[in-house]
Amino acid sequence: MFSNSLIELDRAHLVHPVASYRTHETLGVRVLASASGATLTDATGKQLIDGFAGLWCVNAGYGHDSIVEAAAKQMRELPYATGYFGLGSEPAIRLAAELADRAPGDLNHVYFTLGGSDAVDSTVRFIRYYWNARGKPNKDQFISIEQGYHGSSTVGAGLTALPAFHAGFGLPFDWQHKIPSHYAYRNPAGTDPQAIIAASVAALKQKIEQLGAERIAAFYAEPIQGSGGVLVPPKGWMKAMREVCRTFDILFVADEVITGFGRTGPLFACSEEEIVPDLLTVAKGLTSGYVPMGALFMSEHVYQTIAEAAGASAVGHGYTYSAHPVSAAVGLEVLRLYETGLLENGRRAGARLMAGLESLRDHPLVGDVRGRGMLAAVELVVDKERKTPLPAAADPARRIFDRAWHNGLIIRAFASGVLGYAPPLCCTDSDIDAIIERTRQTLDETLADPTVRAAMV
Ligand code: PLP
Repeated sequence: MFSNSLIELDRAHLVHPVASYRTHETLGVRVLASASGATLTDATGKQLIDGFAGLWCVNAGYGHDSIVEAAAKQMRELPYATGYFGLGSEPAIRLAAELADRAPGDLNHVYFTLGGSDAVDSTVRFIRYYWNARGKPNKDQFISIEQGYHGSSTVGAGLTALPAFHAGFGLPFDWQHKIPSHYAYRNPAGTDPQAIIAASVAALKQKIEQLGAERIAAFYAEPIQGSGGVLVPPKGWMKAMREVCRTFDILFVADEVITGFGRTGPLFACSEEEIVPDLLTVAKGLTSGYVPMGALFMSEHVYQTIAEAAGASAVGHGYTYSAHPVSAAVGLEVLRLYETGLLENGRRAGARLMAGLESLRDHPLVGDVRGRGMLAAVELVVDKERKTPLPAAADPARRIFDRAWHNGLIIRAFASGVLGYAPPLCCTDSDIDAIIERTRQTLDETLADPTVRAAMV
C-alpha cells in the first residue's frame, strides 16, 4: 500500500533524470528504501547488490556511521557558511588543502561546486576568463570526444557527445567540436594500442589545423569514457593527447568525475597516467554520494593568470552553495576512509571483478570485456566475428536491466547492449562473486530472448 501510493505520487509529480517521461509513467518507479555495504533493499524488501554504486558515486558503500556523524556534527555546529565576503569554514578550507596535497602536480587551487555538471560548466567560464586575461580572446573554441560525457548543464551537455543530450535542446553550440573516440573494440585503426593512440593524435591535430590553434581554448577528456560505454583508452593515450595540447597552447581538462576517488585504483586516474592536466574536475566519489559536491582543480598557471588579470576586481563566478561546510565535512571523512583501507579493498575487489568478467568471455553473447579497477563493461553482440550489436528490438537498456534486477543485481544496461559495472569499493569477495554469477544468469536469460535468438541466425 505504502509503496503503491508512492508510485502514484511519483508518476504524478517527480520528473526523473534522463528518462522517457511517457515510458516512466507507464512502468512506474521502483522505490529504494535502505542500504548497507554494497546491498540495497527496495520498498518491497527485495535485496540487490548495487553493481553500479548508485550512479558510479557511492564509492565507500552504504551505511558508514562515521560519514553520517561527520555530517550531523557539522550541521549542529555550522550548517552553512558562505565563501562570499571573505568568509569561510574550517572543513572547506581543510578539504581544499588535503585535496590539493594529493592532486597531481601543481593542481593546487580548488573551486567547489555541487556536482560534476557545474564543475565542468565552471571550467568553461574560467577558461574563457583565462584566455581573455592572456590577451587571446579569440581562443573560444572547445574540443571534446565522441561518446564523451561532461554533464548536463547547457554548456556541458554540448561538450557531451551523447545524442539524447543534444536532440531537441539546440545543442551542441557552434563553438563545441568533437573528435572520434579511442573506442578500442570498434576502432577503424584496429586493436593495436599504438595505432589507436596515433589515430587519436592525428584526429586532434587535424581538428586543430581545421579550426586554427589560435582559436582553440581547451580539449576535454575522461581518463576512461564512462557514460559512452566505459571505453578504456590504451595506456599512454592521455599522455599523448596532453602533449598535443601543450604543443599547440591548448588547455587540457581531465574530467575525473567518474574516475576520481579510487574508481580505477588511485585517488586520481591522472596519477597513473602520469599526466598533470591544466584543469581537473571531480564529483561523485568526492563525497561518495552521501551529499552533493563537486570540485575543479586549477593548476598554478591558470589560477595565477586569472588572479593577476582580475587584480582587485571580483572574478564573477560563484554559487550560494560553493564549498558547503556539510559536504566538505563529509568529503574529509570519506577521504579518511579511502586512505584507511577503502582504496586498498577497491584494488583487491577490482582485480576480482575484472577476472570474473573475463571469465564470461566464453558466453555466446560476450563480445568484449574491458575496464580498470572497479570500473568495467561487458559489451554484448549477437555475432562475435562481425561484432554485431544486439538488435534494438531486444531493448537492452530496459530488458537487461530488468533481468538483472530480478536476479538481485543492479548494473547499468546501455541501449547499445553494453553492461556497465562500478560497484562500491567496499565490496567483499562474495559480493563480487555474486555480481558475476547474477550477470551470467542475466546473460543466459538474454540469450533465450526470442528477439536476440532471431538476430543470431
Ligand atoms: N563528467 C563526467 C565524466 C560524468 O560522468 C558526469 C556524470 O556522470 C558529469 C561530468 C556530471 O556530473 P553530475 O551528474 O554530478 O552533474
